[in-house]
This record gives sequence, structure tokens and C-alpha cells, in this order.
Amino acid sequence: MNRRRFLVRLAGIAAVSAISPLSLALAAADPLATAQHLIDAGKFEEAVSMLRRITVDDPRNERAFILLGRAWAQADHPAQALAAFRAALRINPADTHTRMLADILAQRPLPGETASRDKGGRHGASRQEKAALAEREAFAAGQGRLPPGKGPFRLVIDAGHGGPDVGGVGASGLREKDVALDLALQTARKIQGSGPGVAVFLTRLSDVPLSLAARGACADLYGADLFFSLHAPFVDDASVSGMYLFSLETGGGQDAVARAVAGFENRLAGAMPGFSRAGRHGVEAGMLRGGMLGRFAGQSARYAAILGKSHGVGPFSGQGGVGTAGLSLLSAVDAPAVFAATGFLSNTGDEAVLADAQRRRDLAESLARGILEIVRDAGGGPPDVSPSL
Ligand SMILES: [Zn+2]
Repeated sequence: MNRRRFLVRLAGIAAVSAISPLSLALAAADPLATAQHLIDAGKFEEAVSMLRRITVDDPRNERAFILLGRAWAQADHPAQALAAFRAALRINPADTHTRMLADILAQRPLPGETASRDKGGRHGASRQEKAALAEREAFAAGQGRLPPGKGPFRLVIDAGHGGPDVGGVGASGLREKDVALDLALQTARKIQGSGPGVAVFLTRLSDVPLSLAARGACADLYGADLFFSLHAPFVDDASVSGMYLFSLETGGGQDAVARAVAGFENRLAGAMPGFSRAGRHGVEAGMLRGGMLGRFAGQSARYAAILGKSHGVGPFSGQGGVGTAGLSLLSAVDAPAVFAATGFLSNTGDEAVLADAQRRRDLAESLARGILEIVRDAGGGPPDVSPSL
């Protein structure tokens, strides 16, 4: 499987030196490059023991701690990853990229923490929030079972929006951020239950805001083979309905629905703090300079098509479709990436589907099935998919 693409660092957020075929040739001379190579090859235990030796010998080696954090994160040991990133931050508190990674990892349920506590207040948690909390705990309970060195397909599921960015809001008050989180957690759990061939990571596990840069950083942190973002947008045309799967538009054009979705999503993403890293002068510009923007466009489009075909007609009145869209989010991710509009909160029929817990479960099951098709297409993953999927 062509899983271990070379990690090319973006100029604006570079924390680790670039690994290129040329620098691999020099890896023997640079233990950190060797460690990076081990991480890319899925040999986390070897990478961790090597990096630990380096940090013991040189406790001020910021890059070694950052790499150690990446190795732990990819081996699915978030607490150790967080500790390593925090060690790097003590050496260099100005490293905002590592701080962002630490913040992402700090969302994980840590001992003594309960998400319900910070809700509090007289309103309490909504039904979706309670369901999301239960799913989050079930997901976290299944973590830490990755077979070391087996090199599973690495899936990063991104629940759209979060925190003050609620996303679209339907006529009944259903919020996109809650729908996205519920679908993300349920899809993650169904895939997690399919066997050891897929390592599942989530950008957010709870109701927290994430900038586009942070979401892109998650794809990078976990070495994503697929970054899959879940949404239920609100567009002007209330008749738009169905499941739409978009890859990044790189000059092939976009249809009216794609334009409407990109318009809605880019506006909200632009209002999120941290967006300055993307756009003209940030991440996106760095990727354009490096010729990287859209280098996974072909693969992303193929994955979107597989998901669309696997999903079929689905529960919505509209047929949906597969296409490309000029979504800022997709251009912030340097990995194969698919944006899913799983119905539209601007359509009352779609909203009723999304408000129904059973039909959300069915949707998550359909998404999980499609993702497992992608894993098979990529030449890896579980040969024996759970019959319930
Ligand atoms: Zn959205």
C-alpha cells in the first residue's frame, strides 16, 4: 500500500525538517531524519526508543521531543504524545504549531475529566450532546489497540464546526456541529469495530472550536491516508437535498451546489480564529509555492466517487452527487481529503432525517461501509470486514 507518503513540511508551519529522497540518503548521518523515517514506515516502537535516547542525552532537543510526540500520536498513545509536545513547548514556548497539536491532543478524555462537568448550568446538555459524550467515551475506550508496525490505513475523521461556530442551523434548531460530531463518532466506532486494518483518529471529540489550520495539522499529525470531513450545510436554495461528496476543486470547475456549499463553509471557516494561517499568506500560499496544493486531487476524487457509489440513494429526497468544490478546508489538508455534505439543514426533509437517531445510525453505517471500500481500494486494511457493516 502506498501509505507512507513522504512528509513534506509546509514553510509556514514547519516544525520538523523535510524528508526527501535525497535527505533519506543522508538519514544515517542524522538520527532525527532516521527517526522520522521510522515513523513514516509505521515503526513506532523503534522510533520512540531512539527518540527517547536522544532526549535523555540532549534534554534541550526540541525537534526530538516534537518527533517523539508525533510517534506517540501515530501509535495512538495521546497522553504520551501530549507530554512530549509539552516538553517541546517548555523549550520553545513560541512554537504555535506544536501548541496547536498539544491543544488538539488535550481534548482527549484524560483521567478525572468529564465533559458533562464543563457544560453545567441550568440548560444542561442537549440530547445530541449527551449522545456525543457517550459515543466519545465508547470510542476512547476502544483506543490503544493498534498492532505496532502493521501499518494500518490511517483515517482522520473531522467533525465540522464546533464551539461558537455552530455551522448551519435548521428550522427546528438542529445544529450542524452536533450532527457532524454525532456522525463522526458513530462512523469512527463502526470502523474501529471492523478490525485492526484501520486506525481511526478524530480531529475533535467534543464541542470545541478548531481552525482550518488545526484540522489540517491533524491530517499531518496522524499521517492521514484519508481525511474525511462531515457537514450538513445550510444553503440559500432550500430544495438542495442529499449526500454530496466533494474533493478539492483544482481547475475542473464546480457546479451550483458545490459553489453554494463552498460559499457557506468558507464564510464560517474564515470567521474562525487561526484562519490567518490559511488563505493567501498562510498554509495555502505555502502549499501553492511548494506545488503541493491539490497533489492528492486525483486520489481524493476517486475516494469521493467510491463513497458516492457505496452510499447509493440513501435516506434523503435528493439524489446528491459527487464533484469538486473550492473549499478552504480541503486546501488546508495535505492528504487525500473528502468533504461530505450529509444532507442539508436548509432542507426540512433532510433536517428531519438528521434529527432522527436511528437514521443517523444508518447514515454512519453507510459512511463506514464506503470508507472500508476505500481501504480495500487502497490495497490495505481489513480483509474480513464485519458482516454487520
Ligand atoms: Zn459545515
